Amino acid sequence: MTASTSYEIVHHEYDVVVVGAGGSGLRATLGLAESGLKTANITKVFPTRSHTVAAQGGISAALSNMGKDDWRWHFFDTVKGSDWLGDQDAIQYMTREAIPAIIELEHYGLPFSRTPEGKIYQRPFGGMTTEYGAGPPAQRTCAAADRTGHAMLHTLYQQSLKCKAQFFIEYFALDLLMDADGACRGVMAWDLSTGKLHRFRAQMVILATGGYGRAYFSATSAHTCTGDGNAMVLRAGLPLQDMEFVQFHPTGIYGSGCLITEGARGEGGYLTNKNGERFMERYAPSVKDLAPRDMVSRSMATEIREGRGVGAEADHIHLHLEHLDPALLHARLPGISESAKIFAGVDVTREPIPVVPTVHYNMGGIPTLFTGEVVTLKNGQPDTVVPGLMAVGEAACVSVHGANRLGSNSLLDLVVFGRAAAIQSAKLVKPSEPHKPIPSASEDACIARLDKLRNAKGKTLTANLRLDMQKTMQKHCAVFRDGPTMQEGVAKLKTIVEVFSNDLSVVDRSLVWNSDLVEALELDNLLGQALVTIVCAENRKESRGAHARDDIKDRDDHEWQKHTLAWRESDTGVKIDYRPVHMNTLDSDVDVIPPKKRVY
Ligand SMILES: Cc1cc2nc3c(=O)[nH]c(=O)nc-3n(C[C@H](O)[C@H](O)[C@H](O)COP(=O)(O)OP(=O)(O)OC[C@H]3O[C@@H](n4cnc5c(N)ncnc54)[C@H](O)[C@@H]3O)c2cc1C
Repeated sequence: MTASTSYEIVHHEYDVVVVGAGGSGLRATLGLAESGLKTANITKVFPTRSHTVAAQGGISAALSNMGKDDWRWHFFDTVKGSDWLGDQDAIQYMTREAIPAIIELEHYGLPFSRTPEGKIYQRPFGGMTTEYGAGPPAQRTCAAADRTGHAMLHTLYQQSLKCKAQFFIEYFALDLLMDADGACRGVMAWDLSTGKLHRFRAQMVILATGGYGRAYFSATSAHTCTGDGNAMVLRAGLPLQDMEFVQFHPTGIYGSGCLITEGARGEGGYLTNKNGERFMERYAPSVKDLAPRDMVSRSMATEIREGRGVGAEADHIHLHLEHLDPALLHARLPGISESAKIFAGVDVTREPIPVVPTVHYNMGGIPTLFTGEVVTLKNGQPDTVVPGLMAVGEAACVSVHGANRLGSNSLLDLVVFGRAAAIQSAKLVKPSEPHKPIPSASEDACIARLDKLRNAKGKTLTANLRLDMQKTMQKHCAVFRDGPTMQEGVAKLKTIVEVFSNDLSVVDRSLVWNSDLVEALELDNLLGQALVTIVCAENRKESRGAHARDDIKDRDDHEWQKHTLAWRESDTGVKIDYRPVHMNTLDSDVDVIPPKKRVY
């Protein structure tokens, strides 16, 4: 008996299947359901528990509600913020569509904070400027207090239910079902509550599975952020893009890693070192504490390295809000005031919050066009579309964030490209079209992997291996990196991957609510991405955006203004190739912005 015949499999047929019910997955699901396509949404956690729920600061759009603004300035800021690695056609699409996308969210019922005149409230955020960087900071980030993601997720979930989209909740997607020509034909999932496997056939599968922050020891992301969709793509023999670019948020609470939104600095908060000095004035004289995240994180790391950190170990920095009006803190930043109390024991109206740069966002992911379609490099063609497969949200690398994402551009990316994927699917998929066959090899490989992990009889526990991986990434692929440290990290990770393959211990053999097995599957997913990340980081011989090398400090546009593509060839083998950055815009509404030095 083969592994696959020993499992009970339930069959489903849908026009489109979305995997993931965060902001991007829900926005895609809503658009698909509205367009009349038979749509299923598979999610491992209840939709409103997706990591999007934790987004605090807000969502960007040049609405001009609180000062002069223009989406072309937003376009400029995003290209510059990306350190010229972002695709300019996709950035144009996102920043222009931002305005109708926010109005649409408002009409769906998202309870934004308001100005006294009743307009959507907007706060300043890092790297968001006016007049192509020559004017004052832009007030561009639309906020629902400091719970914007929470408001967005509930709004989109309610709208999706209204449109009768079908949800498969607490179903863990295992693998893509690919045919011999490299097209995606569906996805296999495991129902965590009954233990049954479910095979979903679909004309289009949209991966909206979020980031993989949990590859690191200290991260602001939820424990569920294990990049499962990215790992499925690697297992399907497709590449991931720009994985070396990992964003460290400047203000994770020291110790817990819990996020204090950039909105705190947007509302007037500032950072100091042990001398009480507002050091950002030295690093970014014009925008100071509102410089982009990569710069603020590096400045903080430099202060700490040079002995000017605060605390007994001089290993963190202070974030001050105590000078702000308590009424403002209560109205605009209630959530982080509570987090600071719980996780740092700090009353923000009286004392500074201890903070440290913490892993926050993955710029890299599944390469796509701005339509959501997944692409790969094939026969020398860098934009070859993979039929039947799309990716949106943090799982995708569109690439609008390039080497560094600007705060509040992710929530925007979710809704703009979630919507774009639904629009493109409606063009490509005919309702109720017959499904093409799925080769048994694809299904067998998926079940054999599940079966192997479920019956793993080694000696090493998942939790121990996960900790080893997280510590390795934290130490060897950090805010500052250099060749020898990363090479050592690659060797360590390879050993961890080998132990996982040969000596993993899974104790629970059941299929019902088996969290032991879920964690092993998630670790398998994380390990592939961690390996690819550090190999790509070691490979990129320049400093750009969030990838800051101590041994090669300059950006090298001649050699390296290109996207890295990485395939996983075996357990420990990674193959690297490249795609050009899209240095074109969609039309003449904006001009291409040629690379310049990034000064703020
Ligand atoms: C603390 C925090 C605060 C943030 N604040 C902001 C902000 O203010 N502004 C901003 O622009 N960005 C912010 N970000 C970034 C932004 O929130 C995220 O990038 C974004 O929410 C990711 O959304 P997503 O739709 O891609 O995925 P997620 O919201 O992460 O959802 C992933 C979904 O995929 C599903 N899934 C995953 N794996 C599987 C599987 N194997 N099977 C089935 N389902 C699966 C999950 O169940 C979940 O529904 C913040 C991030 C964090 C961590």
